[in-house]
Amino acid sequence: MENKDVLNKEVLLEVKNLKKYFNVGKGKTLKAVDDVSFVINKGETLGLVGESGCGKTTCGRTVMGLYEATGGEVLLEGKDISKLSNKEKREYSKTVQMIFQDPYASLDPRMTVGDIIAEGMDIHNMYSGDKRVKKIYELLETVGLNKEHISRFPHEFSGGQRQRIGIARALAVKPKFIVCDEPISALDVSIQAQVINLLIELQRKHNLTYLFIAHDLSMVRHISDKIGVMYLGKLMEIGESNEIYKNPAHPYTQALMSSIPVMDEDELEHKNRIVLEGEITSPINPKEGCMFASRCKYAEDVCRKVTPKLRELDKGHFIACHIK
Ligand code: SF4
Repeated sequence: MENKDVLNKEVLLEVKNLKKYFNVGKGKTLKAVDDVSFVINKGETLGLVGESGCGKTTCGRTVMGLYEATGGEVLLEGKDISKLSNKEKREYSKTVQMIFQDPYASLDPRMTVGDIIAEGMDIHNMYSGDKRVKKIYELLETVGLNKEHISRFPHEFSGGQRQRIGIARALAVKPKFIVCDEPISALDVSIQAQVINLLIELQRKHNLTYLFIAHDLSMVRHISDKIGVMYLGKLMEIGESNEIYKNPAHPYTQALMSSIPVMDEDELEHKNRIVLEGEITSPINPKEGCMFASRCKYAEDVCRKVTPKLRELDKGHFIACHIK
């Protein structure tokens, strides 16, 4: 039976009450990801946004299987990844790929571009000889590079080109799902749109599903079908991208939205920047209550005592807030 979400779309990935805690010594626990749930439909993108340290990258890495979850479940096509056999784990490592934040650090400087791109194909014994070379040529062209680049080294390329190499490496094993971990934040603004457009084009062509992690809300809008907003390990709001941009409901999302730069003068006149004040709550051994309470102008007593659960505001639009 097909797995469908609330909007009756086919689900590829389901994350249920995911927790990833780190022991930070002296009996203290950092709750990097705390009770996070979402689904991503086939061929779609969930943009996961929030300030640095909110747990979005830890969430992506736990979904990838790079970290073992402290609690909760990650289901790909209905299968719990913590219960995979060794053979299935090997298959999972092919089905799920990652594009990293820093194209400078994520490519081995001693390897040729051809060998970097073929790394996954080689691990999984997918091609050899002429077929392998042909496949690398195809991938180079797919990401907008040339055949001649096959024998070059990463340092000979610009940041944008290196990220294209990283994308080719991820695509090489024919994944279904890619975690894009801030893939544009280390790039010049002029190059960011090119990389986003390439990812959108590849998604359409190969029916790829993305978890797109970012702190830049303006770029996330162009690629995301849904947006999830994280704050100190918690998912504060999630919904269809257009709905979140038009009607952000959570006070934290509203503040994030207000900080997106606008080009249009009329829009600028109507835009009220919300400046967050107050101390940031520590995610180490946090108390019950809303993690955002110390910075929220709407906070009431209940906010400091009871942790708000996600509730549905509108079809497919959820927030974790007592008041809004
Ligand atoms: Fe603000 Fe309370 Fe809502 Fe948290 S639960 S965002 S503190 S109003």
